[in-house]
Amino acid sequence: DIGVTVDSDARVIARPTWTRPGPDSHKFNRGMVAVVRGRMAGAAHLAATAAMHAGAGYVVLLGASMPEAPYALVRKPLTDDALDDPRIGAVVIGPGLGRDEGMREPLDQALASDRPLVIDGDALRLLTPERIAARGGTTILTPHAGEFDALFGAGDGSKLDRARDAATRSGAVVVFKGPDTVIAAPDGRAILAGDANDWLSTAGTGDVLTGAIGAALSSGMPALDAAAAGVWLHGEAARRLGAAFIADELAVALKHARGML
Ligand code: AMP
Ligand code: MG
Repeated sequence: DIGVTVDSDARVIARPTWTRPGPDSHKFNRGMVAVVRGRMAGAAHLAATAAMHAGAGYVVLLGASMPEAPYALVRKPLTDDALDDPRIGAVVIGPGLGRDEGMREPLDQALASDRPLVIDGDALRLLTPERIAARGGTTILTPHAGEFDALFGAGDGSKLDRARDAATRSGAVVVFKGPDTVIAAPDGRAILAGDANDWLSTAGTGDVLTGAIGAALSSGMPALDAAAAGVWLHGEAARRLGAAFIADELAVALKHARGML
């Protein structure tokens, strides 16, 4: 169905414009990301590391303490007011969260926050499109095919049409991942990101993407731009790594892709 990209006003992903640090930069105006940690610490850790290598100035990991995390990551408990800091430019939740009922509380706290939010992984399994739409504010969802079907239902339209419909229903920018990632906004705009390195099909790469998008969002970009910037950076880092890389390397390689911008 080659007509789909020609008929629609979807555009192909392009190198983003992403402000570089300058003399006036400090860690908080570069972008502050808060990553909510869940059951599996490694996934949140990957997302947080990715956010730093994508250029965020300050990343805080919220949840039970993690002695093994790198020193540049600030760790704090997820207190009731942990997300109230107005300097937080993006809250990230979902990587390694866990799907059990015990995780509803931190997820409710993230949804109730007025900060821009990136929702991935297990958090998507605990939500409905209506619940996401009801939060208002800026939200980016990053489902892979299984998470997309669980949240929005398995449809039979094109991936582009399904992503657009999902964005309309949830009021969120939807990054429908895979070798042919589609990014759709509630207003109908859409961006296609083909040509991904197939070696991305390995554990943890999605967590890295979530962190990269969080960094872009925290820098003040509008949601659709931030989603596209994260997808572009992730794709470029993977292209540079070649074959059989692991997600930890991908998180670090974001800095080389970032250096191009
Ligand atoms: P996740 O499934 O959450 O770990 O995310 C996997 C990441 O790898 C997403 O960014 C996908 O778009 C990407 N990805 C997965 N499979 C492929 C593939 N075969 N070719 C290219 N990218 C892929
Ligand atoms: Mg994932």
